[in-house]
Amino acid sequence: MEARVYKNFIGGEFVESSTGKTFERRNPADTREVVGVFQDSGADDVHAAVAAAKAAYPAWSQVPAPRRGEILLKAAEIIQSRKDRYSQDLTREMGKPLFEAGGDIVEAIGMAQYAGSEGRRMHGVTTPSELPNKFQMSIRQPIGVVGLITPWNFPMAIASWKMLPAIVCGNTVVIKPGEDASISTYNLVECLVEAGLPPGVVNIVTGYGPGAGQPLVEHPDVPVISFTGSTDTGRLVYELGARQIKRVSLEMGGKNPLIVMPDADLDLVMEGVVWAAFGTTGQRCTATSRLIVHKDVAGPLVERIVARAQSLRVGDGLQAETEMGPLVNEKQMKRVLGYIELGQQEGATMRCGGGRLTEGALANGHFIQPTVFTGVRPSMRIAREEIFGPVLSVIEVGSLDEAIAVANDVAYGLSASIYTRDINAAMRAMLALQAGIVYINAPTIGAEIHLPFGGVKATGNGHREAGPTMMDVFSEWKSVYIDYSGSLQRAQIDL
Ligand code: NDP
Repeated sequence: MEARVYKNFIGGEFVESSTGKTFERRNPADTREVVGVFQDSGADDVHAAVAAAKAAYPAWSQVPAPRRGEILLKAAEIIQSRKDRYSQDLTREMGKPLFEAGGDIVEAIGMAQYAGSEGRRMHGVTTPSELPNKFQMSIRQPIGVVGLITPWNFPMAIASWKMLPAIVCGNTVVIKPGEDASISTYNLVECLVEAGLPPGVVNIVTGYGPGAGQPLVEHPDVPVISFTGSTDTGRLVYELGARQIKRVSLEMGGKNPLIVMPDADLDLVMEGVVWAAFGTTGQRCTATSRLIVHKDVAGPLVERIVARAQSLRVGDGLQAETEMGPLVNEKQMKRVLGYIELGQQEGATMRCGGGRLTEGALANGHFIQPTVFTGVRPSMRIAREEIFGPVLSVIEVGSLDEAIAVANDVAYGLSASIYTRDINAAMRAMLALQAGIVYINAPTIGAEIHLPFGGVKATGNGHREAGPTMMDVFSEWKSVYIDYSGSLQRAQIDL
């Protein structure tokens, strides 16, 4: 079957890139299959999309927020009705197994419901004045054209986390999805359009980071950039944005620790670690990549984890029995294999995995074995750098204090977890762990959209997506004072 050609979506029309160039995306489980052909866009395409978003802004920002929200609520129903088809598209484009792809879609449905309902809230603050006959309140206002840059690993969920709060606030949007997984963004936007979103409110420009992402960051008519991706790219986006004093929200890498105390239920830990270290083939920003375990239970726990890792069914995510899919592309596969090589050079012990899988049906995909290293010291690069693959580093410690110190001793701070039955230990860790998200007796993945999502240190720059904080990046506060006394009242003076 001929692969579909996806054109840029600008001002409600599908248009070819002005560069005249396209690129193919291939299925990472079987690279013989082209899943889509996309526009390799350049600065002119970004400029056209920003112009369309700018033209749509005055009318959209005047639509009452509850009406904007209704479009999102309707879109949620449409996405739900297509969940199976969209899950298949998502698995084909980036590789995660169908059951996980379904979770990606469900997150977008949840966000459409949550952000849609916000159209009827969007609370501000009303306070009493310190002066008589004076009323005061604060309101949220939209900002303008918002630029969104997303990665490939949660292609529908992350697009929805940014796009839906942005538009319910009354902004218009230009999105540049990760080049490895653009189809899910088209699927999401298709539902919004069918639900009644006017032309120009959301525009899609596909392409590579430097060619299509950077012109969006640099465009003077785009005052807000919301970016999710690696820390290196995020730093560049931040620097470029700072030159024009833009509001830039960054969600970046992680090196997430999972602490295990001696009183933990080891079978429960094993299940959680295997899910969080090898789910999405380790390509989650919140993946468990460091297992920081008390030495009294390290032996039996590692045995359980290794046994389960070796039994994981690795394969094409479209097959119902598959538990772990391929890595997203060849570059990522080489990078992960490079870290596995490095771990051995650094002196860690490879307890399982380590190799590429090429037998039979796996011959044409980017498959590698789930890999566990023991004897890892906190100073090793495999314990400090984000690998973004199915590689777990096991670090032994002798106390809770040491575990927390090791957990905090990295550049990142997204998600952290502790398994213990001791409430005192759990509470101490909960406060001391340097992370935006902490789990107790659950692994480092599993965030829900009702709470703020984001990280500290090199993971983020102080913003949070989702939860009640989701509109902060996409709206401007305005404080309003109404004096109906008929005389000049001087605040702080006429008390
Ligand atoms: P990248 O940083 O490579 O890319 C992210 C996005 O930025 C892509 O759309 C990319 O385009 C684009 N981009 C690349 N260069 C530029 C540039 N010069 N200017 C503007 N945009 C650019 O990350 P990945 O896509 O590989 O995603 C994996 C990373 O994302 C990991 O580090 C992971 O931890 C992080 N992540 C963080 C999350 C969080 O919430 N904290 C959630 C999920 C992932 P293209 O790829 O098309 O070239």
